[in-house]
Amino acid sequence: MAHSTPLISTITIGLVLAFAFGTLAQRLRVSPLVGYLIAGVAMGPFTPGYVADQNLAHELAEIGIILLMFGVGLHFSLKDLLSVRAIAIPGAVVQIVAATLLGMGLAKILGWPFGGGLVFGLALSVASTVVLLRALQERRLVETERGRIAVGWLIVEDIAMVLTLVLLPPLAGILKGDASSAGLMSIAWPLFITLAKVGGFVFFMLVIGRRVIPAILHYIAHTGSRELFRLAVLAISLGVAFGAAILFDVSFALGAFFAGMILSESELSHRAAQETLPLRDAFAVLFFVSVGMLVNPMIVFRDPLALFATVFIIVVGKSLAAFAIVRVSGHPQSTALTISASLAQIGEFSFILVSLGVSLALLPERGRDLVLAGAIISILLNPVCFYMLDRWVTSPDAKQPDAAPVPSREPLPVSALTDHVVLVGHGRVGRVVVKALRESGTPFLVIEDNPGAVEQLRKDGIAVITGNAAAPDMLEAANLVAARALLIAIPNGFEGGQIVAKARAINKAMPIIARAHSDEEIVHLNLYGASFVIMGENEIANAMIGQVLTPAVPN
Ligand code: AMP
Repeated sequence: MAHSTPLISTITIGLVLAFAFGTLAQRLRVSPLVGYLIAGVAMGPFTPGYVADQNLAHELAEIGIILLMFGVGLHFSLKDLLSVRAIAIPGAVVQIVAATLLGMGLAKILGWPFGGGLVFGLALSVASTVVLLRALQERRLVETERGRIAVGWLIVEDIAMVLTLVLLPPLAGILKGDASSAGLMSIAWPLFITLAKVGGFVFFMLVIGRRVIPAILHYIAHTGSRELFRLAVLAISLGVAFGAAILFDVSFALGAFFAGMILSESELSHRAAQETLPLRDAFAVLFFVSVGMLVNPMIVFRDPLALFATVFIIVVGKSLAAFAIVRVSGHPQSTALTISASLAQIGEFSFILVSLGVSLALLPERGRDLVLAGAIISILLNPVCFYMLDRWVTSPDAKQPDAAPVPSREPLPVSALTDHVVLVGHGRVGRVVVKALRESGTPFLVIEDNPGAVEQLRKDGIAVITGNAAAPDMLEAANLVAARALLIAIPNGFEGGQIVAKARAINKAMPIIARAHSDEEIVHLNLYGASFVIMGENEIANAMIGQVLTPAVPN
């Protein structure tokens, strides 16, 4: 059965195993990524049992990359991209050269020809988009200076790889030492065509895409259909990425990034980002599963020394190069370390590059196996790199080189308000509460996770903390210890329960008033320590009864 429905079985078994191993990893207090990768190994060809279709898994992973890059584009404006070009362009170029040279050195020791060494080195030089973005998003770094540099750097690497993939086939002859196929034209012409296509795509997006895409989204938003809006966002992100790859030969990732960037100027960009979130997460998981599937775990025993050297180049060699160039260009040590940690891994581009290298008979199969195993190990080690960065930031010697070291996780500033009311949620209920609090002159702040609502609150000059109130550090940032009361005006009583539990741990005495929509939610909220739970439906019923039994006196 699994063989007659390969797509369904790849998605289903991939997600089910990723879920099982991811949960296990979480329980063991390691990153769920480890679980997803192991799920991939389990359904790969090198372990017994079910073997998923690798090509399908790879394509599903590409959708994850498209949605991720679209999301990054949504938060990234052209201005941001240009503002980091001074560091991102030379940084990426120097790092690619350094990593490639290191890889070529190792290849020489292993006795591979020049062309094989070049492909191997280049494969070690490009970081994975998915891994980098997950790491930055988890630490709220995407919209910081350091995050922007890392993303800009990634875009430059991406463009370099697009060029490499195009140039490798015509150059294969020369690289193999086959002089007859050489000739300036055979190199210059494909290079020119590629650059012209990338330029053509960027021009097309800036001139036509910039007008048409936001207009479509605005039109759909005004139809009021949520479903169509969601569909429009998906159609735009996947459609532009696909069209860019077919018409302009640029990578899916680059196409999707531009589609997002074009939309970032529209007010609808936040909603667009939210609509793609669940799909993005699911497909990003499939990306890690598909990486796991490529790996033959036996290589650890068969080729340990070469593998160690490969991982060393990815994790240490590349990081040192990145660190040096960021420092030389005058950025603080903490920025340099964040960039190094973000880029100390390899992923999807490396896989594409090594498969091409092997099919052109440039790279020995051993090289491909080393790159694949090196990728998985470097992805596993990536959280460790960030952990070491965290340790460095909190260690006393970190204070010396930079006057104010920047932590690897963006901290939330703690509100200066005291004796204030903290309100969670600014929807139908929250808005009414805010109006009354304002009129009474009570100091208050709002925690809200919908960016549109946050923007409105900011415009109205109301103190607001963006994010899910149940997330770590949110209630601390609201200075709940010193608050007068907490009002939880969100529609989900079970989620509200989590907030109540956290709030009670911080402030034992403060009144907590919560909103519920069912009797189970009332029990749940009371159990976690709410002082008073109001069920909207009961209040509506009471008001209705009040109207009938004690009719209002006509005036
Ligand atoms: P309504 O149901 O119209 O009262 O809207 C509830 C509001 O609460 C919406 O604006 C949501 O974005 C917001 N909200 C829901 N859950 C949370 C949460 N866990 N943290 C912060 N805001 C939330």
